[in-house]
Amino acid sequence: MSKLAIISDIHANTVALDAVIADAKAHDATSFVCLGDIVGYGPKPSECVTRIQELNCVTVKGNHDLYAGDDFDLTNVNEEAKEAMLWTREKLSDVQKTWLSSLPYVRRLGRNSLVHATLDDPQSWGYVHNRFDASLQLKAQSTLICFCGHSHRPVAYEFDGESTNKLEDEVINIDYNNKYFINVGSVGQPRDGDPRPCYVIFDRTARTVTFRRIEYDIQATVAQIEASRLPNSLAQRLMEAS
Ligand code: ZN
Repeated sequence: MSKLAIISDIHANTVALDAVIADAKAHDATSFVCLGDIVGYGPKPSECVTRIQELNCVTVKGNHDLYAGDDFDLTNVNEEAKEAMLWTREKLSDVQKTWLSSLPYVRRLGRNSLVHATLDDPQSWGYVHNRFDASLQLKAQSTLICFCGHSHRPVAYEFDGESTNKLEDEVINIDYNNKYFINVGSVGQPRDGDPRPCYVIFDRTARTVTFRRIEYDIQATVAQIEASRLPNSLAQRLMEAS
């Protein structure tokens, strides 16, 4: 079976997305999965939607994809995200907005689940902050692996039937007797102090999930943000990975 690249939180960063697509293909990934937040914060929302559609990948909806719809009330969204989203809406076509808001919250992929935030309540956009949060998710999870994004911080947890453990390895060996909760990290706006895009390659034959951290031309995206009417704080945030 093929190798699958699983990406999330692109956030309208085409330079990072193109670097990830090239890296995945160079590592023999033959198909892609996208866990949402294609748009929001970044300078190239329309282009990122087009690229994800061209990849023909299985995609689920992120909160920023939901916010892109003109009728979504942004009252409770934080100021930076709101300002960026109002700008983003101007850049997207009506067809793209409709496509983004029509994406499903959860999908099955073989014996695995795909979701942007959490499986227990995908529309509440909750966060898994630690081992305790992960153990609650894993006990309720009926699938082998749940792949998610949302926090922009890559991490993997394993439940062996008794306890939940955080896995620190770059390559996770999947034991079919256990269950896994894997956050694939962010392509376009990492927040773990490392500005390099992150994603995973899922090799279903070897039963491994490999975290990939790659270089890209961050200054190109910074220049695009500065040339737009997006808040300059977003360029700073990209460089600090905060
Ligand atoms: Zn996001």
